[in-house]
Amino acid sequence: MIYDVAVIGGGPVGLAAAIEARLAGLSVVVVEQRAGIIDKACGEGLMPGAVPLLARLGVWPDGQPLRGISYLQGGRCVTHRFESGEGLGVRRTVLQQALAARAEELGVARITTKVEKIRVGEHAVSVDTNFDARYLLACDGLHSTVARLVGLARPAPQRGRRYGVRQHYAIAPWSDNVEVYYGTTSEIYVTPVSDTVVGLSMLARQHTDFDEALAAIPDLAARVAGAEYASSRRGAGPFRQRTRARVHGRVLLVGDASGYVDAITGEGLRVGFAQATEAVRCIVAGRPQDYEKAWKRTTRDFRVLTRRLVFAATTPLRPGIVPLAAAAPQLFGSVVERLAR
Ligand SMILES: Cc1cc2nc3c(=O)[nH]c(=O)nc-3n(C[C@H](O)[C@H](O)[C@H](O)COP(=O)(O)OP(=O)(O)OC[C@H]3O[C@@H](n4cnc5c(N)ncnc54)[C@H](O)[C@@H]3O)c2cc1C
Repeated sequence: MIYDVAVIGGGPVGLAAAIEARLAGLSVVVVEQRAGIIDKACGEGLMPGAVPLLARLGVWPDGQPLRGISYLQGGRCVTHRFESGEGLGVRRTVLQQALAARAEELGVARITTKVEKIRVGEHAVSVDTNFDARYLLACDGLHSTVARLVGLARPAPQRGRRYGVRQHYAIAPWSDNVEVYYGTTSEIYVTPVSDTVVGLSMLARQHTDFDEALAAIPDLAARVAGAEYASSRRGAGPFRQRTRARVHGRVLLVGDASGYVDAITGEGLRVGFAQATEAVRCIVAGRPQDYEKAWKRTTRDFRVLTRRLVFAATTPLRPGIVPLAAAAPQLFGSVVERLAR
């Protein structure tokens, strides 16, 4: 059988792309290496712009409303309440389940295997599991095998590599904002994901110890002291991944597989869903080459603002981030809004 679209990677962006393609009337197969409902290290904050993107696909995962972002450091706190609607704190497993159920309902085929070879032809792409597809969407995450196989991956920078580690705590949320605590060497994001669970997600240089980073932020450590863990600890990274281009013939890179800057702006999912929409639109139009321009447009704010914030967070400018945001709340708010929509 020849599918219209093969999606490699059944993470949230792959499933969103598969649903989008089915809604456009295309036949779709998702190839995912892991069976069952997949968990992954993530801050689990869907920015306001991601919620309608999911709703359009018919996906409404359960979660906690997110109404703003707070930056905190020492006794200082600055908060911006979203003007562009509510975001959603949602456990990865819950998001995966909602997307997988919708994909299944729409008749998306699923194969559980690790893709290791593809051959890009003039009219179709052959995938090593012995089927062909007219187009292939590479949604296989930060360390994309497909991007490497088609020669679009660039070596990741070695200097200043940053990683993320997440841990959930069984404790009632104390805020409806995503709180971002700036420690001396790490940022810890706090996202409520249900009435009884909050997730902490640490972003930092390689080998930073989660417990030490948490202990170095006494206000936050006191909040979760004594609470039971509600998940096992997971990590991911290095964040910074680069690609030469996003289109190679009938292969389109989508989500983290297309390149990633950092989780510091909590943006991966919103940007990935927007890319999925654009990729499918270009396929339906029979103009895959148009995706490159659409990708640049869709990701520009994320790339530029995230790079700037990572630069500030990893240089001597770091101690000035929260004081600057507090001194210029309108500037802080406008940056948050640009990223949240
Ligand atoms: C610590 C941390 C905090 C974050 N916080 C946030 C946040 O608060 N908000 C937000 O929006 N984003 C956040 N992000 C980013 C977000 O998690 C990612 O952008 C998102 O997971 C990207 O989804 P994806 O589907 O592109 O990739 P992934 O979720 O990585 O999915 C890729 C899938 O491809 C599969 N795969 C890989 N290789 C193959 C292969 N060869 N064959 C078959 N299958 C394969 C994998 O098993 C996986 O299931 C955070 C990330 C981290 C690490």
